[in-house]
Amino acid sequence: KSASSGVPNSMAGRDVAYCLHPYTNARAHEEKGPLIITHGKGINVFDDQGKSYIEAMAGLWSTSLGFGEDRLIKAANKQMKELPYYHSFTHKTPIPPIELSEKLLSMAPVPMSKVFFANSGSEANDTVVKLVWYYNNAIGRPNKKKIISRMKGYHGVTVASASMTGLPANHTDFDLPIANILHTSCPHYWRFGKDGESEEDFSTRMANDLEKMILDEGPETIAAFIGEPVMGAGGVIVPPKDYWEKIQIVLKKYDILLIADEVICGFGRTGNTFGCETFGMKPDIISVAKALSSSYLPISAVMISDELYQGIADNSAKIGVLGHGYTYSGHPVCAAVALETLKIYEERNLFDQAAKVGEHLQAGLAQFKDHPLVGEVRGVGLIAAVELVQDKKTKASFDPVGKVGTYLNERAIEEGLIIRNMGDSIAFCPPLIITEDQIDQMLDRFKTALDKTL
Ligand code: PLP
Repeated sequence: KSASSGVPNSMAGRDVAYCLHPYTNARAHEEKGPLIITHGKGINVFDDQGKSYIEAMAGLWSTSLGFGEDRLIKAANKQMKELPYYHSFTHKTPIPPIELSEKLLSMAPVPMSKVFFANSGSEANDTVVKLVWYYNNAIGRPNKKKIISRMKGYHGVTVASASMTGLPANHTDFDLPIANILHTSCPHYWRFGKDGESEEDFSTRMANDLEKMILDEGPETIAAFIGEPVMGAGGVIVPPKDYWEKIQIVLKKYDILLIADEVICGFGRTGNTFGCETFGMKPDIISVAKALSSSYLPISAVMISDELYQGIADNSAKIGVLGHGYTYSGHPVCAAVALETLKIYEERNLFDQAAKVGEHLQAGLAQFKDHPLVGEVRGVGLIAAVELVQDKKTKASFDPVGKVGTYLNERAIEEGLIIRNMGDSIAFCPPLIITEDQIDQMLDRFKTALDKTL
């Protein structure tokens, strides 16, 4: 604080004085203060002391083109000058969301019919919930409303999305989940597989758990199932090979919609354009965000199948206008930046590149399997996690969970590496533009931090 005024005069002091941080413990933040990031370039960001960090998480699983893509800046600038804002309510629209919708539909992993825009993954998933309810009301199935999500799934933090999220921190003390949201088993074979159970048997058990929940609740009450192809914030949980096939058989049997939350997996992350392709998912609804604009501006989208669209359109006379939409739905500047992002992915063939470089990442991480602190190394494409355990044999976690992960995270910061610990699972989700040499450098820094944690 400045001696004369008592008002904080450093940036860190001002942050602690004025900002309430997401996903941050309030008192711990008062003691520790912030890491202030001032600029970025390629896969690196820099703090206010000039120290450089490899951003192994692409921000929040999202800055796929890294931190200095001039074309996105130009696209934003051009659109800002032409038309900085217009909305899409009541039959009006700016041009960029039209072009972006067309592009997204051409990339969709299964035929999709229409695109609705929002600003964040949470808003996209809230939109999904509302569209599912709206659709079932429109077509005369008012009792088919429950949505099944999974424990450890992550779908955002707005009231409905946080309810679908299956993590205690997002429910406890927020009085969530809301009604009509249920959570079934988490498909983490290494953690939840039984002794002697094969991966295939485990997948069958997951599908049986789902079917039991549907039958207990009454199939006529279950509207949809939502899942990330690979769970991200729940700890990068890659399901066994045939998990999604078995789940989809159950959903089909009871006429339950499949919603793919592609907010992390979409746009190359798992080595294909969409995670749905990697895992053979045939969704009725897809939500995307994050890498849609490489996170340079906030934008998310929901794609719906023609069956859903026709169900809504056929009943328009009865239901009136779609009473849902955000001031910034289809914001022209955000949409223009997203469109340019998708062009860059295509021109630079970045999804194939992610698949190739992803193999290098997974092979490099495999070296840590024998480390005394490591229980499991898992991942696909350019997303991975290393889970730390107290006891390699029994897989017993540290007590309390997260303490060692947080310690390792801090050692990584010392080494110039930004990773993310979710409990004691350490995630890697670097920008898609990362090279094999940069991956080696990232893993060298991680090794030093891990050895310091021993
Ligand atoms: N869905 C998934 C799979 C996510 O990983 C996230 C964010 O991490 C969200 C939804 C929520 O997105 P947002 O933070 O943009 O609201």
